[in-house]
Amino acid sequence: MSDGSIINRIVIVGGGTAGWMAAAALAHAFEGAGKTVILVESEAIGIIGVGEATIPEILKFNARLGIDEADFLRETKATFKLGIEFDGWRREGERYFHPFGAFGLDMEGIAFHHFWLKACAEGGSAPLETYSMAWQAARRGRFVHPQGGPQSPLSSLGYAYHFDAALYAAFLRRFAEGLGVVRREGRVVEVQQAADGDIAGVRLADGRIIEGDFFIDCTGFIGLLIEQALRSGYEDWSSWLPCDSAVAVPCEREEPLSPYTRSTAREAGWQWRIPLQHRVGNGYVYSSAHISHQEAEDALMGRLEGTALAEPRRLRFATGRRKDCWKRNCVAVGLSSGFLEPLESTSIHLIQSAITKLITLFPSQKNSEGLRSEFNALMEEEFVTVRDFLILHYKVNQRAGPFWSQVRDMPIPDRLAAKIALFEETGRIVRRDHDIFSESSWLAVAVGQGLTPQGRHPISDVIGHDANLGRLSAIRDSIWRTADALPTHADALSATMARR
Ligand code: FAD
Repeated sequence: MSDGSIINRIVIVGGGTAGWMAAAALAHAFEGAGKTVILVESEAIGIIGVGEATIPEILKFNARLGIDEADFLRETKATFKLGIEFDGWRREGERYFHPFGAFGLDMEGIAFHHFWLKACAEGGSAPLETYSMAWQAARRGRFVHPQGGPQSPLSSLGYAYHFDAALYAAFLRRFAEGLGVVRREGRVVEVQQAADGDIAGVRLADGRIIEGDFFIDCTGFIGLLIEQALRSGYEDWSSWLPCDSAVAVPCEREEPLSPYTRSTAREAGWQWRIPLQHRVGNGYVYSSAHISHQEAEDALMGRLEGTALAEPRRLRFATGRRKDCWKRNCVAVGLSSGFLEPLESTSIHLIQSAITKLITLFPSQKNSEGLRSEFNALMEEEFVTVRDFLILHYKVNQRAGPFWSQVRDMPIPDRLAAKIALFEETGRIVRRDHDIFSESSWLAVAVGQGLTPQGRHPISDVIGHDANLGRLSAIRDSIWRTADALPTHADALSATMARR
């Protein structure tokens, strides 16, 4: 341990996606700064390993570490993801798409959807996703990297990945160990605290003690350091997001390889389908108050589109967030910091975001109240924003059944209620700082779930009805022509992986 309160030894406990993302990023950020990064994990305990879908921010994480996309795709069996198809969420038989990237084209400063709303109000417009480059590529099973200037449809594309989370952790482990991260295998049986309450070290089952100045708790749901030792506390959000269980099973790879996640509404929750290179991830996220675990498992297995490759795996979770993600000399990253169901693939992003904020606010000394409270406030804001976005999917639904009427009738957080009201009245979506979802994301889900704004931006009336329809149809034609000419997802993937 170092003298005084300078932080020299950083100990990460846990080696799942969170642990190895933290190890890789910290080792990279502090390269040459004389800090030692140690990661302790227990193979016997294992990792949760079901995080498979991501949002576009993951590109920034990989880029910051200098990870080559071709290597990443090969090593993690990743595919490209252009968004999420929501099947039956508004009502049975209807579907919509949450695309990454923007709708339409750049309209000189005013969001495209106001011109679309004008066309809807005056008659004659096609559905919103007609104007999404990402959806038009996705539904054709095609992919290309974003490119071109603001008037090119391909500039409006955004993308992320589906990948094998266990392989990503292994990939980052090699990266981190290459930068000097020291891995210790063993089960932590005791968290040792100094007289002032700070964590001083962890004792392993074989008696070894690993001391440190600063600790990162990546131990998953159990929160061994942040909760079991430091009693940070947990804010439970299950009254808004009542799903508390999941059952997951991988299937054989299917053709064609679709470049998007599918989320299908079910009687007591929803089912995911995530295509990877070597398999398809499937799972049913449900409320155990509305369906038994066995019924949920049977429902999932009965609806699989391919041959199962393993036995189904059941998982339980409590939706909410750790009250203080940073307490004393310990920061919780990953499932130890809270959990929001994977409806919008946000967990890995929340890991990335916590690590990025921690690096920005990393203290020089252990005693760092100001930095700690800023970090906690930022993480709270981020969790709350994701929470509200997820609630929107449930609140605005017209499905039948007890689960769906419960979530439709529930009271929602005031700020989400205000956001919905503003959108319905004016067609505006106002994003606050730290909202990871773009205006297009909120728009896609709000419109997809069935909200219809009464108003729109007045500038949309500068253009006449016929001219507006003409412009929309030109945009549509340009997007559709472009989509028709794109390579298939499988070809785009092979070509990218072949790049050296
Ligand atoms: P874990 O994977 O649980 O890792 C915990 C680590 O701590 C392990 O290495 C374990 O060995 C170690 N550990 C624990 N106790 C001890 C101990 N006593 N001694 C030593 N080591 C210990 N996220 C997404 O972004 N996209 C998705 O599509 C997605 N889907 C999900 C679906 C479900 C059903 C669930 C439950 C989660 C999903 N997630 C998803 C979340 C994602 O799985 C996690 O955010 C991610 O895997 C990070 O987990 P973790 O590293 O925090 O915890």
